[in-house]
Amino acid sequence: MTQIFTYESQPYATELEVTVLSVGEDGKRPFAILDDTVLYPEGGGQPPDHGRLDEIRVLDVQKVDGEIRHVLASPATLGKSVLQLDWPRRYDHMQQHTAQHLLTAVAVERFGWQTTSFHLFQDASDIELDVRDPSPEDLQELEERVNAEIRAARPVTAYRVEPGELEGLGVRSRGLPAGHQGNVRLVEIEGIERNTCGGTHLGSTSEIESLVLLGAEPKRGGSVLRWLAGGRVRRRLGQWEARGAELRRIFGTADDQLAATAQLKLDQLQQAGRQQRALEERLAETSADALISRDDLFVEAHFDDADMGFLQRVARRFGSADHSGIALLTASGAKGSCFLVAGGKTCAVDVQAAGRAVAEALGGRGGGSGSLFQGKVESLSQRPRALLVLEVATTLREAAQDTIARRARALGDPRTRLHGVHGLSEIPERDCAACTGSRRSPNAIARRAQALGDPRTRLRGVQTGWEGSNGLTI
Ligand SMILES: [Zn+2]
Repeated sequence: MTQIFTYESQPYATELEVTVLSVGEDGKRPFAILDDTVLYPEGGGQPPDHGRLDEIRVLDVQKVDGEIRHVLASPATLGKSVLQLDWPRRYDHMQQHTAQHLLTAVAVERFGWQTTSFHLFQDASDIELDVRDPSPEDLQELEERVNAEIRAARPVTAYRVEPGELEGLGVRSRGLPAGHQGNVRLVEIEGIERNTCGGTHLGSTSEIESLVLLGAEPKRGGSVLRWLAGGRVRRRLGQWEARGAELRRIFGTADDQLAATAQLKLDQLQQAGRQQRALEERLAETSADALISRDDLFVEAHFDDADMGFLQRVARRFGSADHSGIALLTASGAKGSCFLVAGGKTCAVDVQAAGRAVAEALGGRGGGSGSLFQGKVESLSQRPRALLVLEVATTLREAAQDTIARRARALGDPRTRLHGVHGLSEIPERDCAACTGSRRSPNAIARRAQALGDPRTRLRGVQTGWEGSNGLTI
């Protein structure tokens, strides 16, 4: 004969003296089998109860192979114990479950809408109905009728009958489970319906307190109807009111003006965003033009309250200009600090090698391709060091070209006889002024070196600062 547990016969019982008959482990979770229980095992859309077995927390209750496993926070010992139910959680489930029976019954009786499933979630519940698009008026009437039945305080009872009796009782059921044996449990809302159900229920519809429909959305050819019942209605109203008060304070407006005020502020924000982007674009152009106008092989700029996007805009304009120099751009703002190394359109310096050296000097990382190299850094405290590295790189290149120019003159025809010096200068053949007959002729480089003084002498003092930097030593 089927055992009737106390959670079923006395749904309002919250404590029970029990005997732990056996213990086991389900995966990594210990569980206990008891001689009786006031804790409901998950089923029929109703979540499992929580509670305590003496001092051990009961985290889950599941029916497995005909026995009820109480899943525990730590292992239990065999023998007598006291089992306590987490009553607020259970009572909430009873309110939602009885409310669902009533809602389902009124929906089918008044509108012919059949309930195809029920979900009891932490914050709200829903039922799926076989109606595609219920009108707001129908939903309002449904809500009013359900609340009228709540006020009518109809008794709710549960009892068992033989399967053969079901037809004569007009029972609402989606059919018994395959292989079902023995009697069938019914939950009856007096004057409304009888339904096959194993869940825990209130004693009267009045305990549902109230039911509020939150809205319907299309789903699987029907619709899903979200709702709240019982203490959840008051809790949700309290949350909404607190949120409303906070929004009224933020926007400084009355409740009925909140949506319009929020929309207005959003429009203003978007407009300000568009203006800011336009100003940033102009600032980037102006900043790039200022760099382009300087006829130096190495230029630099720093921008506060800017980000990588801004640096890229400056770099794109700089890179498209007919400039032979290399630029170091840095920015710091809400998103942190970043840097970008960019070469002008006619820049002969290896930007990737220079970028890697700058990243190393700044203590950051980065990457890039062609004439752009970018990266993020923790801070820009080593910026002076990075400037020095780039200055050395560009000036040494001049010095190297100066050497090449002099050797080229000594050797005669530079294009046929100078390739041997590439290894010394670490300047790729494609960048060699002597081999390519580049924009800057060897003589021009030599003249410039003389004008600057001897660059190798000038640079000797800073060599320890850049020695070992990738690709830049000569
Ligand atoms: Zn039920």
